[in-house]
Amino acid sequence: MDNTGYAYGSVQSGIDKTCAIRALKSARLRGEQSLTIAFIGLGNMGAPMARNLVAAGHNVTGYDIAAPCPTGISPAESAEQAVTKKEFVITMLPNGAILRQTAAQILPIMAQGSILIDCSTVDIDSARAVAHEAEMHNLGFVDAPVSGGVVGAENGTLTFMAGGDEAHIKHVWPLLDIMGSRRVHCGQAGAGQAAKICNNMIAGATMIVTCEAFALADGLGLDRQKMFEVVSASSGQSWSMNVYCPATGIGPSSPSDNDYQPGFASELMLKDLRLARQAAQSVNTETPIGTLAMQIYEEFVEKEAGSGVDFSGVMRKFTSE
Ligand code: NAD
Repeated sequence: MDNTGYAYGSVQSGIDKTCAIRALKSARLRGEQSLTIAFIGLGNMGAPMARNLVAAGHNVTGYDIAAPCPTGISPAESAEQAVTKKEFVITMLPNGAILRQTAAQILPIMAQGSILIDCSTVDIDSARAVAHEAEMHNLGFVDAPVSGGVVGAENGTLTFMAGGDEAHIKHVWPLLDIMGSRRVHCGQAGAGQAAKICNNMIAGATMIVTCEAFALADGLGLDRQKMFEVVSASSGQSWSMNVYCPATGIGPSSPSDNDYQPGFASELMLKDLRLARQAAQSVNTETPIGTLAMQIYEEFVEKEAGSGVDFSGVMRKFTSE
């Protein structure tokens, strides 16, 4: 993922809004105590999120197996060292298996009463399993996946969807408010991941059908700009059409105007569609369109050089974009 300036998710921030949010946050934080936080996973999302916590006056120790520790964050040599005596531990990791493995390392040594906040996008079973393990160790757990992409992480305008006990949630809100501008308590542990998976299943499927509609418009000789003007104000409107239009030169600036540089990469969308499929199977729910969307992204990523391409680049399956 890169810093092309496109926000993936429900928040697309302008400079004015970002400044206003920052001012509001510093005002809110004045007089509040500095918290001790461990941040594990300092990749494209984790590094800017951790930096925002430091900018808000908190004491952050970071650990990543590969990525460098950003300036202002104290580097730890291991996950165990990072979490020792910390009030909060935040993880921003690639998947559920790595989350489980990391949790097994850190939960036994986390400080009593501390809370693990997992912001990664992972399967619901992993979120619930880690929540259970945390409870066994008398620790708090909140799953808090995000929407808003790298730009949202940098600007502190992420949307958080959180799952966990109210008692833990109320303690983590102030930290989420630094890294984001919107948060929803979705229910018990795993509910945040459930919301994230449902949202991204809709986003993936809607993106594909939006691309199909442009291909159909082309075939019918309908001007793309006219199609956008009609659909973006009619019942076919969606975030994919109105905000993140996959057709080059149509609608607000988006990755389609920058050779489909992500943004939100197709392989991450594929990961989320696979999580949605897995979740649907686990509760015997039919999701035929979500499954088809997963198969289309599978082809795009694995056979059609879609890896590293923004998820709106699936347009290339349908047109000569
Ligand atoms: P990334 O690959 O850039 O970062 C993940 C980091 O985790 C890497 O730096 C990696 O070295 C580190 N890591 C892996 N295993 C580790 C371990 N055992 N201990 C410590 N560090 C370890 O990925 P990202 O884009 O930052 O995404 C992180 C999570 O956020 C993913 O679950 C992703 O699905 C989710 N997400 C990403 C975006 C986005 O736009 N990039 C948007 C929403 C959600």
